[in-house]
Amino acid sequence: MALTVRLDLDHLHLVAHGERHRARLSHVPRPGETITMLCGYADFVEYTDRSAGLVGVRTCWPCDLVYRRQVGVRVPADHPGLRRPTPPT
Ligand SMILES: [Zn+2]
Repeated sequence: MALTVRLDLDHLHLVAHGERHRARLSHVPRPGETITMLCGYADFVEYTDRSAGLVGVRTCWPCDLVYRRQVGVRVPADHPGLRRPTPPT
């Protein structure tokens, strides 16, 4: 009998240049595959384990703003993403 591993694609930590981004993924990205974040930033995928940590990683607010709008989460009037231009969704 096989062990089933279920991944929640909404909870993968996509980190680039010290910021945690978000993307709407339809599958687990393959190493080397280029994915485009909700803010429009695109880069290739490489995996690392938890030891790399997330200490000091900042939130990409434009990604957070787009994600909130897509899933229907309230956007506070003072959301930092509202201060920077966001890409079209
Ligand atoms: Zn982003």
